[in-house]
Amino acid sequence: MSDFSDQFDILPCIVCSKVLEPAFPSEVDSHGPYAATMFTSRGNYGSTLFDPVTINLFLQINVCDDCLRSAGERNHVFVGTQHRTVTPSIFGFWDENYEENQ
Ligand SMILES: [Zn+2]
Repeated sequence: MSDFSDQFDILPCIVCSKVLEPAFPSEVDSHGPYAATMFTSRGNYGSTLFDPVTINLFLQINVCDDCLRSAGERNHVFVGTQHRTVTPSIFGFWDENYEENQ
């Protein structure tokens, strides 16, 4: 695996390619974006592209707040609550007012 840590500390938005700034620029190893959300995925069985057998492998992407808001307005984003028990997660559609409406 290549090490891109020096060149790509902050990934651009995967939807619109907007260049993103770090949320905490003073931290040496911070690649968390400002005005964006960082997502990670360990793949899934249904993917024909990313379903790693290696348990410690994951993908990471950033989505800027504008693109996330737009996707939420189109009901393209699920929000879920994950409990520490065996209870299944509960899902609904996410939008930027989700927490205020709970
Ligand atoms: Zn974007």
